Amino acid sequence: MSVTAQSVWNNCLEFIKDNIQPQAYKTWFEPIKAVKLTDKSLSIQVPSKFFYEWLEEHYVKILKVALTKELGETAKLVYIIKMENTYGNKQPFTERIPSSNRSAVKAQDVDIPLNNKNPELRNPFIIPGIRNVKIESQLNPNYSFENFLEGDSNRLARSAGLAVASKPGGTSFNPLLIFGGVGLGKTHLAHAIGVDIKDKYPEKTVLYISAEKFTQQYIDSVKKNNRNDFIHFYQIIDVLIIDDVQFLSGKSGTQDVFFHIFNHLHQNGKQVILTSDKAPVDMQDIEQRLLSRFKWGLSAELQSPDFETRVSILKNKLYRDGVEMPEEIIEYVAKNIKSNIRELEGAIISLIAQSSFNKKEITIDLAKQVVEKFVKNTKREVSIDYIQKVVSDYFQMDIDTLQSKTRKRHIVQARQLAMFFAKKLTKASLASIGSQIGKRDHATVLHACKTVDNLTSTDKQFRKYVEDLSKKLSV
Ligand code: ADP
Ligand code: MG
Repeated sequence: MSVTAQSVWNNCLEFIKDNIQPQAYKTWFEPIKAVKLTDKSLSIQVPSKFFYEWLEEHYVKILKVALTKELGETAKLVYIIKMENTYGNKQPFTERIPSSNRSAVKAQDVDIPLNNKNPELRNPFIIPGIRNVKIESQLNPNYSFENFLEGDSNRLARSAGLAVASKPGGTSFNPLLIFGGVGLGKTHLAHAIGVDIKDKYPEKTVLYISAEKFTQQYIDSVKKNNRNDFIHFYQIIDVLIIDDVQFLSGKSGTQDVFFHIFNHLHQNGKQVILTSDKAPVDMQDIEQRLLSRFKWGLSAELQSPDFETRVSILKNKLYRDGVEMPEEIIEYVAKNIKSNIRELEGAIISLIAQSSFNKKEITIDLAKQVVEKFVKNTKREVSIDYIQKVVSDYFQMDIDTLQSKTRKRHIVQARQLAMFFAKKLTKASLASIGSQIGKRDHATVLHACKTVDNLTSTDKQFRKYVEDLSKKLSV
């Protein structure tokens, strides 16, 4: 067999996989692509500058050992940082670009006066007529880092947030995009970063705003014919936090204006923090040029917290509210409400309320009643494991076969159906569906969903599969 970039890299991966945590392997090594092998030098493509820095900081030793094993003492590793092309530039990759000119935007691409020295500043947060140039940050001081408890599910996002807070605009996490499902702490973390920055740098102008409100303000500004004032207002912010950017999907006017604001802030070393309920690859109806901006910095996911983290979040909440509750009950609630921290807190609050209104003692029975209501009222999300089990049972194969690398048509179809239902019935990202169903990438999952859509409308037998499975999977 000839030695290729791919074969060398595969061997390295095998070695690395055996020597680090599976989660770390998945996060930091699976996304890497081997690109080129020249003599003793292997080029690998990494998704971002942050990624490269993280590898250098944490994995340089193991990379060196692995590569030396393959290519000998003179082995060299070259990183290629993938940059999204923005202006139809066909060149797919760019070598490391120094951060000072990382921004590909030139002033003439922006159609608004960037250095508008006009001091008259219209603040969309205040009623016209009242002159007030001081910008209120709109932050909620109760959402702090201190009460944002750390766990495996949020470690990366939380530490990236802390890094940004200690050096706003000065890290490569710009923008910092925090994404994850409903009630997992995106808003809390976004505020915490802002609150911490205000604390450390009182002179900085920090602004928190939901994408919805931002859109509303923009629409108003167009109506009132002061779009430029709106833009100018946002361009003087030092730290701009926009919550729930998925709300911008389909709103091309607002996206356009945000694009200009973003470029201006980024070019001037200002920090942008975004949250979204989806990973950038899964966002729909957001312009490519904006999506590519989102990927410049770091995208950090908030996942569902594990049991220990759920228990500590509950205990922390009870402690802050000055309520005591038997350990057994806390654990019962944490065991039964898993996928949403807001619901977890909701259950505890209603438990406290029930007991104090009805003068009942907080017992495990009462906890059961309350939790039951919560679990029943919230539509249960099926898990990807469950979907794989149902699909493989239906086709009478085992899950290993479903996940295998075979190209046999009926197995491929079963796998594509599992991916299709995972996309339809869970909030998991394409990438995470792919990695759970036979370690495929997000493009494979996307392709599977399209294939299932096509076959459903053209193939009667296949449509029957989809209908049967839909019934079996409906919860
Ligand atoms: P999202 O914006 O992702 O929907 P929120 O930020 O509104 O979620 O969080 C929902 C609730 O859960 C909030 O009350 C928040 O304080 C709480 N919460 C989320 N994550 C944590 C955490 N790690 N520690 C403590 N409380 C948390
Ligand atoms: Mg939120």
